[in-house]
Amino acid sequence: MPGPREQRCQLAMLIVLAAAHMTAGLKCVCLLCANRTCETTADGACWNSVMLIDGKEETVKSCLSPSEMKGQVFCYSSRNVSKRNCCFTDFCNNETLHLNTERPLEEEEAGWSRLQLIVVILVPCCLLCVGILLGVCVVQGHRCAYSRNHKQDPEEPLDDQMLMSPDKCLRDLIYDMSTSGSGSGLPLLVQRTIARTIVLQETIGKGRFGEVWRGRWRGEDVAVKIFSSRDERSWFREAEIYQTIMLRHENILGFIAADNKDNGSWTQLWLVSEYHEYGSLYDYLNRYTVSLEGMVVMALSIASGLAHLHMEIIGTQGKPAIAHRDLKSKNVLVKRNGTAVIADLGLAVKHDTSTNTIDIPSNHRVGTKRYMAPEILDETINMNNFESFKRADIYSLGLVFWELARRCSVRGLHEEFQLPYYDLVPSDPSIEDMRKVVCDQKLRPSVPNQWQSCEALRVMGKLMRECWYANSSARLTALRVKKTLSQLTVMKDIKD
Ligand code: ADP
Ligand code: MG
Repeated sequence: MPGPREQRCQLAMLIVLAAAHMTAGLKCVCLLCANRTCETTADGACWNSVMLIDGKEETVKSCLSPSEMKGQVFCYSSRNVSKRNCCFTDFCNNETLHLNTERPLEEEEAGWSRLQLIVVILVPCCLLCVGILLGVCVVQGHRCAYSRNHKQDPEEPLDDQMLMSPDKCLRDLIYDMSTSGSGSGLPLLVQRTIARTIVLQETIGKGRFGEVWRGRWRGEDVAVKIFSSRDERSWFREAEIYQTIMLRHENILGFIAADNKDNGSWTQLWLVSEYHEYGSLYDYLNRYTVSLEGMVVMALSIASGLAHLHMEIIGTQGKPAIAHRDLKSKNVLVKRNGTAVIADLGLAVKHDTSTNTIDIPSNHRVGTKRYMAPEILDETINMNNFESFKRADIYSLGLVFWELARRCSVRGLHEEFQLPYYDLVPSDPSIEDMRKVVCDQKLRPSVPNQWQSCEALRVMGKLMRECWYANSSARLTALRVKKTLSQLTVMKDIKD
């Protein structure tokens, strides 16, 4: 069972990952690094911070990149909640900071008469104004819009008090962070603070690694995936993937926080994300049909998410190509606006361009058997080429499109929901069951004839066939699928 020291190591690994692009420059104390030292880039800084977590002072000392320094939350303190400090000489963050709750009191005594005036006149006025404003915002359901309209000037420092102020909603917190430069998520201590103030409400899903809950944070719903202690590696891996720089996208599940809390007898491992009340695409399609336009919009959003995941972005703030490896309707969530996000990145792999390898050792067959590409089923996949993993995702995407298109209702006609190969394999198929059907007999889900009579369904049928070719190099790319679907969205007859 992992003790506090191992947890700190993991915390350190995440911090080190976030600062991985630093190569040379200033030397700083790094409390959580193996040799307690880190190096910044030429324009970086040493970071020294203390924050109140669960009534205890938690200290973090490490290196900051120039972009993180611009990231507003790092270098500025807020009274009694945290003290943060950036400095610019070797090991200047050696000093240990403490939160000083006495100072404001002393200041108060020194300037008592002025303060008294402020307290007596200004505070009730402000409270009244805030009360009225909050009332209006709550009634109109515009809390997020309100705080966004009142956002600070991006040049001004944003301190923790601002960050954790009660009128900040999650969307604003995440928006602040993604525009502040670090690009890889909220600071770890903020993640922890959020996670530890969530109240769990009900279970909403069960998967490989435990349960998914709906929780409440400051009046907003969040999803909490709870891993058992023995699945710590999976928790760590999924948190790490979600915090890949530049991963954030409207069609990838919005990550909020990871937290590992040792409660004495076991470690609770939480992964907090945005909550989507419609649940998975699997649940949605079981319950509802979609219109032609609904189908195209949904398919386009899934392809957009996958294209973003697969894409490598070059540059210091770049993003590696990522393959999902477990794409299926249960791992796609439906948003309220009828688009979707790709979720469950626990099995994803990143491409390391410098060595042309993937970032973790992989065995041949991971994922869900029903959705496995033929080359995975018969183990002919070339694992030395990262493209292979992307092509296997495209095969699975074709199957998800098939599930979706069957539920498209045209003039009241549609098929019942079914999983791919429902008519060819048993309900919990073995690899062997799948291999016989997909590789030996080369069968694929059947495309109903009536799809030919409607342009959007005809295009969807053609797209899925081009996604599940046996020859993986002949398959479409996610970007190609996305472009074809974008063209469909402007067609007039899908709006009928
Ligand atoms: P696992 O790795 O265990 O498969 P998933 O992340 O796929 O876990 O989640 C399992 C199920 O929980 C999903 O199929 C979905 O029904 C539900 N779920 C997961 N995340 C969310 C979320 N953010 N909002 C709503 N439902 C979710
Ligand atoms: Mg899943």
